Amino acid sequence: MTLQRTLQKQGSIFSSTSDTETILHLIATSSGKDVISRFIDAVRQLEGAFSLVALSPTKMIGCRDALGIRPLVLGELDGACILASETCALDIIGARFVRDLKHGEMVIATAEGVESLFPFETQKPRFCIFEYVYFSRPDSSVEGRNVYEVRKKIGAELAIENPVDADIVVPVPDGGTPAAIGFAQAAGLPFELGIIRNHYVGRTFIQPTDSIRHMGVKLKHNANRRMIEDKRIVLVDDSVVRGTTSQKIVQLLRDAGAKEVHMRVASPPTRSSCFYGVDTPETAKLLASRMSIEEMAKFIRVDSLGFLSIDGLYRALGETARENKQPQFCDACFTAEYPTRLPDQKALTTSGLCQLSPQADSESG
Ligand code: SF4
Repeated sequence: MTLQRTLQKQGSIFSSTSDTETILHLIATSSGKDVISRFIDAVRQLEGAFSLVALSPTKMIGCRDALGIRPLVLGELDGACILASETCALDIIGARFVRDLKHGEMVIATAEGVESLFPFETQKPRFCIFEYVYFSRPDSSVEGRNVYEVRKKIGAELAIENPVDADIVVPVPDGGTPAAIGFAQAAGLPFELGIIRNHYVGRTFIQPTDSIRHMGVKLKHNANRRMIEDKRIVLVDDSVVRGTTSQKIVQLLRDAGAKEVHMRVASPPTRSSCFYGVDTPETAKLLASRMSIEEMAKFIRVDSLGFLSIDGLYRALGETARENKQPQFCDACFTAEYPTRLPDQKALTTSGLCQLSPQADSESG
């Protein structure tokens, strides 16, 4: 936004608010001599998360931001270079996975081969930890870890940290399924598909209004009554955002005759918005930003509620614990410790258009 305003003052005309259009204007207005130097000039002005793929008549360029917040992988098919955000895309077209691009890496693919450059100052990587919790597909491997295996480990950590006396473990499909399998295996409880998902409707958390979201939940999930009736249930979901979807799912289970519903969440409480390209609600709308765990349990109407700790999440990723001074990942939606400045948010706050959490504001410098 800040860059877009600067470009507009210099005469650039925008037809959208897309970040990609801003990058195109930066490339177009650069004084670099060729497309590569203009591209480098443009990406060096960006702050935040991006994984870009650009085409010129003779080149394909791929670039990850300096911290490698978002993924980008290199593949190969019949001698041609492929760039994709996840390895599952390579599987689908029968391409071979070559490697993840490194944080801050830029690759240039031409008919002669692939060249690699590092146009940014060296920094420690801060890959988005939420990719492992929710965004990436479970059949992908990102940064050397298989997402499905990580999610099962997350479920096992969750069971160790938040044990519960229950009859069955039920996932909120599909996001909670691998973690629920891990939970059930670690807890020695049966795993059952107590909720069946309709695959013909989209993600509910990005729907624009509460009423459309509520209808979306009903269209999306149905209780498998035979599995639920008279059972004490551990309900596993990947995360709780606004809490309204969880509330509906819990009601669905109660209406189907569940005796008890104990919710276990495969991530820490989501307390802060993401400013790195994810359409999450503003911080004030996140349930965990305004309620204690006990209050959230009451709001969602569960018999008990437990979240994975931040260290538990890091353990599931094979780390001993979170390095608090220099965390190994971006985990800002759980900790409000943003790995970059947030100049756009600062601009919005000073113009009175939005309110950041106190930590987020101080991080934005
Ligand atoms: S704030 Fe959360 S969702 Fe956004 S990049 Fe960081 S970890 Fe990922």
